[in-house]
Amino acid sequence: MNKEPVSRELFDEVMVPNYAPGDIIPVRGEGSRVWDQEGREFLDLQGGIAVTSLGHAHPGLLGALQEQSEKIWHLSNVMTNEPALRLAKTLCDHTFAERVFFANSGAEANEAAFKLARRYAWDHFSPEKHEIISFKNAFHGRTLFTVSVGGQHKYLEGFEPAPGGIHHADFNNLDSVKALISKEKTCAVVIEPIQGESGVMPADPEFLKGLRQLCDDNNALLIFDEVQTGVGRTGHLYAYEMYGVVPDILTSAKGLGGGFPIAAMLTTEKVGASLAVGTHGSTYGGNALACAVAQKVIDTVSQPEILKGVNERSEKLRRGMMAIGERYDVFSEVRGAGLLLGCVLTEQWQGRAKDFLTAGLEEGVMVLMAGANVVRLAPSLIIPETDIDEALQRFEAAVKKLAK
Ligand SMILES: *Cc1c(COP(=O)(O)O)cnc(C)c1O
Repeated sequence: MNKEPVSRELFDEVMVPNYAPGDIIPVRGEGSRVWDQEGREFLDLQGGIAVTSLGHAHPGLLGALQEQSEKIWHLSNVMTNEPALRLAKTLCDHTFAERVFFANSGAEANEAAFKLARRYAWDHFSPEKHEIISFKNAFHGRTLFTVSVGGQHKYLEGFEPAPGGIHHADFNNLDSVKALISKEKTCAVVIEPIQGESGVMPADPEFLKGLRQLCDDNNALLIFDEVQTGVGRTGHLYAYEMYGVVPDILTSAKGLGGGFPIAAMLTTEKVGASLAVGTHGSTYGGNALACAVAQKVIDTVSQPEILKGVNERSEKLRRGMMAIGERYDVFSEVRGAGLLLGCVLTEQWQGRAKDFLTAGLEEGVMVLMAGANVVRLAPSLIIPETDIDEALQRFEAAVKKLAK
């Protein structure tokens, strides 16, 4: 086995340069703390970008992984398997869903959702009803279809021609959707209940209710991309519950596997029927090992005391960040829900979110950015309160250095 020592420099020698990772290489994690190659400790408010929903090395997840790994890892979709069926049943029991499709990433779950929306309209209406309405600044993944539906043109530059029939409305502006939607052409409207990547921007409840009505009036499906907001992140199992607006299709990934790659597309029996035999598929989708781990994640996160804990931690973190923001005049607002928080930089710090990330690392706390103007936090949903206190202290030290 290759046990040669590795360093950050190796990245530039062997990896495609599509990422610009930081200098440290974490090698071990426990709860909300990780340690790098030198043994330096960090408090993790990144959560692998809203993925490690139960922190690192969670005993329950280790147990589920170990147990399933000794039984069977993978079967083709020519066979079904127990963990996949159990997980699908659990997801249906806990949500509006009646049918589930498993994939491996958020992009793939969205790809399935968009294909399903087109196919459903093709089945029930006409081939002309294929248009998808999405929103400016939306993020739905990096496959060619999902990046085209996404609302940041820079991610599409040099990759065109893109799939057609996609329109972008203004987020939180119902009139801009009204101007684009039609019975004849629109098959679906897709939205993140809280836009994550582009700045932790929550949808207005009235806006989502209006979208639901517009979709109903135009026989269009409403798709919620809950890849980032799902699995307890907002203090609800899924954010649609918080808004009281039920979509026709919902996609879930990131936190679903707690660090093990898995995604799911949830839908109703009627809509799901359009993905008939042979229309869509995935080799790894429904992988037994992934589903066994996700089962433990959902069983844990869906407990009322865990969700309540998310809201308590949210309050603490929000108040702490706002206090730092006020003391050093760095944040104008802390927005978001649950443990998906965006600290919006004040005027004089515009464009400098990356500096906060770097300064945080120097003080032993890992934070995220969401665009250049927002410091984003997406820690473990069960981060100990004492770790929040310590993370805030370390972050304040970072801000103090930066602001002086
Ligand atoms: C991260 C994200 C995706 C893409 O998920 P991948 O697993 O990276 O493909 C899609 N939608 C939203 C809202 C996301 O936050």
